Amino acid sequence: MYLSSAIDIYDPSDRFNVRSVYIETYGCQMNLADTELLFGHLGRHGYRRTDDPAGADVILLNTCAIREHAEERVVGRLGDLVRHKTRRPDVQIGLAGCMAQHLRDTLLEQLPFVDFVVGPDAYRRLPELLGGAGDPFVDVRLDRDETYADIIPQREHGVRAWVTIMRGCDKFCTFCVVPYVRGRERSVPAAAILDQVRQLAADGYREVVYLGQTVNAYRDGDVDFAQLLRRTDAVDGIARIRFTSPHPSDMSEQVIGAMASCPKVCPQVHLPVQSGSDRVLARMERGYTVTEYLDLVGQLRRAIPGIALSTDVIVGFPGEEESDFQATCTLMQTVGYDNAFMFKYSARSHTKAFKWQETVSEEEKGRRLQTIIALQERRAADVNRALVGTAAEVLVEGPARRREGWMAGKTPHFKTAVFPANGARPGDVMPVRITDATAHTLVGVAQDGLVPG
Ligand code: SAM
Ligand code: SF4
Repeated sequence: MYLSSAIDIYDPSDRFNVRSVYIETYGCQMNLADTELLFGHLGRHGYRRTDDPAGADVILLNTCAIREHAEERVVGRLGDLVRHKTRRPDVQIGLAGCMAQHLRDTLLEQLPFVDFVVGPDAYRRLPELLGGAGDPFVDVRLDRDETYADIIPQREHGVRAWVTIMRGCDKFCTFCVVPYVRGRERSVPAAAILDQVRQLAADGYREVVYLGQTVNAYRDGDVDFAQLLRRTDAVDGIARIRFTSPHPSDMSEQVIGAMASCPKVCPQVHLPVQSGSDRVLARMERGYTVTEYLDLVGQLRRAIPGIALSTDVIVGFPGEEESDFQATCTLMQTVGYDNAFMFKYSARSHTKAFKWQETVSEEEKGRRLQTIIALQERRAADVNRALVGTAAEVLVEGPARRREGWMAGKTPHFKTAVFPANGARPGDVMPVRITDATAHTLVGVAQDGLVPG
């Protein structure tokens, strides 16, 4: 099998060789998946995972560079973690991921206590570099071919597994640093993905979520994203398939057809729009107009009735006038998203828009953001309240956080539902009748008809 072709180079009986690694993750789901990959890879090279930085030999921050705020948080946290190095000078502290790549030229100068900086394509070399002479190192080479297809991630136990199927991005939206920090688009071989999914099913996972910056641009020879969904749908043991984030321009008829006809592909899609103004979309170089985006939403809703839609929106992009912002509000009302991630524009070096003068003040960005957050909260509450009285199949994930004796899980539409446990276990699919709802949670009672996990 593809994945088991990895060679075990660490002898577990050699317990004195074991070093411990602590990793903190910032940013998106892809970074969380990369952390699982790092744990898997370092684990094969004699590193034991620890959740306590006070006892770790290696402290690693897996970072995000999407917005300035994310980078500031990491610098603040590093300042805090350096006390471990003061007490134990042998500790190696380093940065991995997008911020490491973004600030590669200045990080070691700015933060002299940092021992190493590794970009997203250098993880394979990390064990070797860590085991070197102890000198600081920077490895930020981007690699057009690296997909880590042969490295088995060390995942958190649960019912849902995140599987990275492609890396990098070729779209170069003018606001976005991703293509500069994660490099060019490349896909993991389909055989490796499907082997991984079969193994996940055997390990008891019930849901897979395919990950990629433009996940629906996936291609391995003849296997495009639509084909991959169809082949995944045929894997026994997996109950649900999701993916994030697809790009609207790559949302082909074939992908929509596969979503509609594969029973395990959930009726839910995250479709980032960024703005509701054609003028702004053109300056962002997103590759679609508002009309084209709305056509796509129409196609999805016709093919998959009741599909849940979520999105990303940026406010305060350079040149965004009040009328452009109003167009974004209108688009959000027209589509009626189930959920939205909303951001203030943050200028990022290397990008095209970085050179453009900012025209919207921080205060005004804040006002626009608060306006759409309020709009979206009302909409989400309405959508969820309309579900009261209906039934949904909930894939049980574990105990509910705030209610003793209750369980929590997700509906096929990716809504969180909580209900009195009544014997349900993680991995079960429970029919739940919805009795109450807020903007973020459905409350219900389990009905007969449990499908055990
Ligand atoms: N690839 C996805 C797409 O194009 O739809 C998005 C990936 S990006 C990591 C996640 C979101 O971060 C984007 O959709 C965008 O809304 C937001 N984002 C990216 N760059 C940003 C910036 N410079 N300022 C504010 N938000 C940004
Ligand atoms: Fe960034 Fe655009 Fe690529 Fe998404 S598609 S990762 S927003 S460049």
